[in-house]
This record gives sequence, structure tokens and C-alpha cells, in this order.
Amino acid sequence: MNGIIISSTEDDGMNGIIISSTEDDGMNGIIIHNHEISPYWIERLREAKEQGTELDVLALHPVGGRNATDSLNGLIEQIKTPAFRTFTEQVADLGMQLEYEMHTLSWLLPRDEFAHHPAWFRQNAEGERTPDANLCCSNEEALTYLEERTAHLASLLPQSGNRYFFWLDDIGGARCHCPRCRELTTSDQAMTVINRMLRGIRRVNPRATLCYLAYIDMIAPPTHVRPEEGIFLEYAPIKRDLSRPMSDPTCEKNAAEAQHLAPLLEFFGTENAQVLEYWMDNSLNCRWKLPYKKLPFYPEVIAADAAFYRSLGFAHLTSFGCFLGEDYAAEFGIPPVCEYAALLK
Ligand SMILES: [Zn+2]
Repeated sequence: MNGIIISSTEDDGMNGIIISSTEDDGMNGIIIHNHEISPYWIERLREAKEQGTELDVLALHPVGGRNATDSLNGLIEQIKTPAFRTFTEQVADLGMQLEYEMHTLSWLLPRDEFAHHPAWFRQNAEGERTPDANLCCSNEEALTYLEERTAHLASLLPQSGNRYFFWLDDIGGARCHCPRCRELTTSDQAMTVINRMLRGIRRVNPRATLCYLAYIDMIAPPTHVRPEEGIFLEYAPIKRDLSRPMSDPTCEKNAAEAQHLAPLLEFFGTENAQVLEYWMDNSLNCRWKLPYKKLPFYPEVIAADAAFYRSLGFAHLTSFGCFLGEDYAAEFGIPPVCEYAALLK
């Protein structure tokens, strides 16, 4: 495992991003909000490591939704602080990689560009251009701008490894209905955008890989647009029933999500494929609003799901672990991070 380089270097042309040799072996992770990081989380991770579990990745996740741009700007400012530097050094000392997973589109293409470039933005079902979400993926100027901004964002994030998780806007039904985009599925439109984002990131890190986040109305694979080399599948079954295994065909919700797995893996392949689960996601449990509720924890389901996903070829298993910070622990006790990590074996 390599360490983490915090500051940019002048001579390697990669802004301090270093190469890990462990990524292809598969990794287990947990994703927490960046505003929840503290020595408390280092303690949770240290406990999990000391118990011999294989937790390899900590990913930071700025809050999504309508305020995703502000959240991402908050992370970018946080990265500059001594406290953040200390935190990332401690993560590296535990032998863990640091990654970022977040909705980036509204940061990459700021909404106020609409005043000057309405054609960059999507046409809604009523035929009106709107800056509410995503963009027109047939507009070359918009894609060029997006590619440059993506390179800039990648240069601002001191991560270890080559895996990037820059997601589109967190809004269903946000496809472009213009005459040129109309024939493309939502997944095809997303694939077009993601391919351009990878080109941008590779200006900063030539070995970068980027996820296609399969969830909500992007959960079916694209039909017309092929992924460029370096795109990998990230599968996030947000509509599932967490109290029952994904492989349970009698669970209607899980069967509806699981039906996409075979076509997704056929389309994207298993290389670098990652599951992004909700097993430990207390923000989902709280419907992304305070007050906290106690996290429901289903160890048998996690164990069954981990075996199921691995049997399909997923080497990377991870879960949201948001809303489980210090405030949560004060109210409900230490969350089952060690137990979770042990179940991923
Ligand atoms: Zn369009």
C-alpha cells in the first residue's frame, strides 16, 4: 500500500496523485460524509483493522441533492486545512486508500452559465432549455467545457490510487429531450458525458479510471454509446429492501434492482467493478434529514449479499456509512463498523 501525497508536486505532472498496486485485487470500503470526519472515525477504522478485517478504502462523500455544488466547494476548502491533512495522514497510516464519491455535474457546469449558453443545458420534456440538472450531451461546446472543468476538479483532490467517482446530478428524469439527444436513452446520455469526464481526468492522471454509476434511471446499461477504456461499473441499488438478500427472488424490490446486474456486467465487464451498497447508510435510513434514527443492521443479509456479489465477479464492495459520526454514537452507541468490515470477507 502506498501512502497519500497531500500537496501537488511540480515535476511528476500528476499533481501528487500516486499509483496503488492493490486496486486490481479488490477492495472493501466505507463512504462517509466529509463533514463527519474526525478522530472518532480514525478510531472506528483502527478498531476494524485491529480486529483483522479487510477494510481498504475510506471514501469521502459531500452531501448530494440540490446543494451538491455548495457541498463540493465545502470539501475543496476543507482539503486545505491542517485538520484534513492530519486526517488523511492517519488514514494512510492505517494502510487505507482515500477516495471521493460525489455528485459533480452542477459544479462542473455551473448553473449561471445558462445566461450566456442556454444551448449547453438540457431541454426538458416541454421543449424548454433549463439549467435545473445535467446538460445537453449533444452540445460539443458544453462537453469541451465540462472536460476542462473535470480536469480542474481532479487536480484539486489529493487522493490515493486511480479510481474516480465523479457522478452526474442526483436527480432522476434529468435527461435532455432536444432533437439530437432524444433518441438516446438516459444511460446513453450519461455514458456520453462520463466518457468526456474521463478524458478530462486523464489530463491530470493518465492512469485514471472513472465509474459509471448505475442507479435510479441510469441502472440499465447504455444501448448505443460504448464506454471508453478506463470506465468501470459502480452498481448502487438504492431502491432495494435492506432487510432481505439481493439474491432473494421472492423479494420484489430486490429482484427489480438485481435484474440489471447481468446486463450491466456483460456491458461493462467485471474489471474494477464495484458495488456501492446501503447496508450501513444511516442517512438513507433517516431519509437524509435529522434527527438521527438507530441504524438497522442485518448481518446475515450483508454476508449473503457479499457472497452473491463476489460470485458475479465484483471484487470491490463498499457501502455508504453516512450519519454514523460522533453525534450518532453519543445517542445510539458505537455503530457496527467492525462487524460490517468482518462480513465483507
Ligand atoms: Zn440535447
